[in-house]
Formats: sequence, structure tokens, C-alpha cells
Amino acid sequence: MVAVENPIHRAYLLKIVGEDGLRIVEAMPEDEVTDEHLAEITGISLNTVRRSLYLLYEHRLAVYRRKRDPESGWLTYLWKLCPESLDSALEAEVRKLINKLNARLRYEKDHVFYACVNGCARFVFEEASENNFTCPFCQGSLEYMENNTIVEVIEERIKELNAALCS
Ligand SMILES: [Zn+2]
Repeated sequence: MVAVENPIHRAYLLKIVGEDGLRIVEAMPEDEVTDEHLAEITGISLNTVRRSLYLLYEHRLAVYRRKRDPESGWLTYLWKLCPESLDSALEAEVRKLINKLNARLRYEKDHVFYACVNGCARFVFEEASENNFTCPFCQGSLEYMENNTIVEVIEERIKELNAALCS
């Protein structure tokens, strides 16, 4: 059986396949196994087992092969986990997140922001100017708002994620 001990791996799997899915993963032997057998040993419905397995497959965390019974002609699906893909799958997730944060960072750095004194919303300079620096929601005034703190938080987060990638 595959024990998923790394808390980041657990969190990632939970996000993809949920609680039942994680139980299924942990019940999987290192060798091939059928969906029926997994349903049997976990007590989880065959439908849920199949859905979880396909989700794992879509994320390249599991592979399957079909075998036809020569007598009955029935197809059997033999599944196998690819736990070594967890690291590369996670890495891809982290890279996606870093890209998003970089885009956000660029946006913060490229714009000047104005915010409603009553806290309704934040506007970029162009929007604030079009509204004559008056909040379209409450008519309060819009005042310049520096975003250094936001920029620093994003930069810090990107640094942490990059460090996590290199470790
Ligand atoms: Zn307002």
C-alpha cells in the first residue's frame, strides 16, 4: 500500500480526489489492481472508485491497462499508481501559481490606485479619474492608496515559492 505521508502531497491529493479518493490511493497496492477490488477493500462505491481513478489518471498520477478475459470477453481495468508523478505534478502547480502572482505583481507595479474612503472598492487611476475621484457606489471621495505593502507581500510569496521549487 502507498502511504501518503508528505502533508503537501496529501493536501494536493485531497484537492483533486477528495477524502474518499485519498482513502482509495492509500489502499492501492504497489502493483496493479482492479477498480472492483479497490471498491471491495475500501467499502467505497464502485462509481466513486472509478471517478477517483480517472481524476488521478487525468493528473497523470495513475495509469491503467485493459485486459480482456478470453472466455467471457469482459474487459478488466488494471490500475497502477504513479506516486513519483506527485512531485512533478506539484511542481507544475507551483509554477502556475508563480506565473499568476507575477502577472498580479506586474499589474500592481504598473498602476496607481485610488480607494473609496468608505472602503467600497479600489480603482486604478484611469477609472478613478473617469469618476471624478468620486466613488460610484457611495459617492464618497476616492483617495490615493499606496500599494507597497501589497507588492511586498506578493514578492515575498513568489520568493518562498521559488525557494520551495529549488529545495
Ligand atoms: Zn464608496
